[in-house]
Amino acid sequence: TKGEGRNGYRFYEAEMDERIEARRALSTELRGALDRNEFLLYFQPIVTKEGRIRAFEALVRWNHPKRGFVSPADFIPLAEETGVIIPMGEWILQQACVIAAAWPSDISVAVNLSPIQFRHSDLVLLVNSALQESGLAASRLELEVTESVFLEATPAIKTALVKLRERGVRLSVDDFGTGYSSLSYLRRLAFDKIKIDQCFVRDLPHEQSGAAIVRAIIDLATSLKMTVIAEGVETEAQRRCLLSLGCHELQGYLFSRPVPAEEANVLASQQGLR
Ligand code: C2E
Ligand code: CA
Ligand code: CA
Ligand code: CA
Repeated sequence: TKGEGRNGYRFYEAEMDERIEARRALSTELRGALDRNEFLLYFQPIVTKEGRIRAFEALVRWNHPKRGFVSPADFIPLAEETGVIIPMGEWILQQACVIAAAWPSDISVAVNLSPIQFRHSDLVLLVNSALQESGLAASRLELEVTESVFLEATPAIKTALVKLRERGVRLSVDDFGTGYSSLSYLRRLAFDKIKIDQCFVRDLPHEQSGAAIVRAIIDLATSLKMTVIAEGVETEAQRRCLLSLGCHELQGYLFSRPVPAEEANVLASQQGLR
């Protein structure tokens, strides 16, 4: 009836208000969190076909004094809306380079960039100073960007990508297959690697269509001389299937969860060339 509908609507409205209020509170705290040193980086290995660590992906964590660890899936979008992602992203890049500089020289670090950072900061300058201050070789830094960056690939963004490449930094497309861009376009923009999103990996090896998509991505990327990394690899069956499809590198809980910097240092020193 009409009355029930109205109650339902009011209930929905109250719930909305609560959620908006919670977001507002979180965004206020987010702004101070950087100054209070509440962010830290975790690192997840990216391994070769043989299982050797080739790189670590830096993944930010927010250690909130009351809430505990807040997921980046919850606070990164908020950081993007509020602009906090700019100073936060700068800190992440600097911190990741400093930590990686202590690893054996054949191990790289992959850092996630938000599309907002392309629009509202001088990324080239930022990357240059992070490399300089840490002493990390440019070839050991990989920048992961999502396909959404290309929806608005302005001349300024393209110029920034070219300059980063000229500096020797590697570029990866994150979450490949969930957005809109084509591989040939990415190749033209000089991307080195693509990361196949975990939604495609999840159903392997059972899902026929899933395997067909992954195979198509790997074949085309390989012919364009791009490296393919599969993320979200959780089972031995997935690993075997991905390798049989020709995937070059793997990442996922099967090998390691993201770990604190101290643990990554230990893993790096055990598995790097010395
Ligand atoms: P992403 O870049 O796609 O990162 C991969 C996510 O998958 C990470 O979640 C990682 O912990 C998780 N993962 C890794 N292996 C497995 C697996 O085998 N199974 C499953 N189910 N999940 C796995 P996390 O750390 O919660 O990060 C979520 C997202 O937040 C990231 O997705 C990225 O988009 C964003 N993010 C994280 N750190 C940063 C950062 O430093 N800067 C920016 N701009 N975004 C970040
Ligand atoms: Ca990533
Ligand atoms: Ca990803
Ligand atoms: Ca993702």
